[in-house]
Amino acid sequence: MTRIVYVNGAYQRYAEAAVHTEDRGFQFADSIYEVIEVLDGHLVDATRHLARLARSLWELRIAPPMSDAALMQVIGQVIRRNRIRDGIVYMQVTRGAGPRDFALPSAGTAPTLVILARAQRKGWSAELAKTGIAVKTIPDNRWGRCDIKTVMLLPAVLAKDEARRNGAKEAWFVDAEGNVTEGASSNAWIVSSDGALITRPLGPHILPGVTRATVMDVAKAEGLKIEERAFGKEEALRAREAFVTSATNIVMPVVNIDGSPVADGRPGPLARQLRLRFHHVAEISEG
Ligand code: PMP
Repeated sequence: MTRIVYVNGAYQRYAEAAVHTEDRGFQFADSIYEVIEVLDGHLVDATRHLARLARSLWELRIAPPMSDAALMQVIGQVIRRNRIRDGIVYMQVTRGAGPRDFALPSAGTAPTLVILARAQRKGWSAELAKTGIAVKTIPDNRWGRCDIKTVMLLPAVLAKDEARRNGAKEAWFVDAEGNVTEGASSNAWIVSSDGALITRPLGPHILPGVTRATVMDVAKAEGLKIEERAFGKEEALRAREAFVTSATNIVMPVVNIDGSPVADGRPGPLARQLRLRFHHVAEISEG
């Protein structure tokens, strides 16, 4: 349960924590966020998440609310004050509050910073990974800068809802060429017939997933071949395995796409291997 939320310098009670009604995050989605896994009271891949946070801010020309060292202090406080051992930390930085105006506010406007933590039952994703998940393909109707982790998430919200209504846990966005860009909240991967890991190259159409980067480190350490290239649904259905990666799911097998099974419809050995090795390779740090 979330008890305490950090909002702009104060640790507030969850039920009372609030930001300004004219916050630009609320009015324009002028805002970015990060989600970091908490495992046994430690942060997973914090350096990479904070680097991506800094990049998202820089791309949108939002001033960093504080130094990385200070941010780590606050994150640690939020984890401890909520007594989180396993779960996630969510943080959001907006361009701040002011009378509604499309024009950017004056340079002195303070960004809004919200940090909360939430417990999740340890092992829930490992359990789900035993059976894997189904995905539903949806035309990618997002903007052209999906590499920035903005809170402009309505396409993902609607895609996930459509997926859910079709009995799938995740949506895979498909571009105009018929290639999978990524999941609504995950990066997409397949395993080719010769055992290579295939995932779309970084660029404006996908989020540079932190889990994606660490899974690449795992794959290299395990001597696996990686091919960064686009793939479509038909190739995914013919693949040996498919899976998604994200900070909350780590490596989650995809066993069904639009109602058709991937391979034998069961999670494959490479997804399992990457998942088991993941936390041995990821950076684990004090919260
Ligand atoms: N793509 C999208 C669109 C996402 O929302 C996410 C999760 N936030 C990811 C990929 C996976 O990123 P990460 O591994 O850093 O959680």
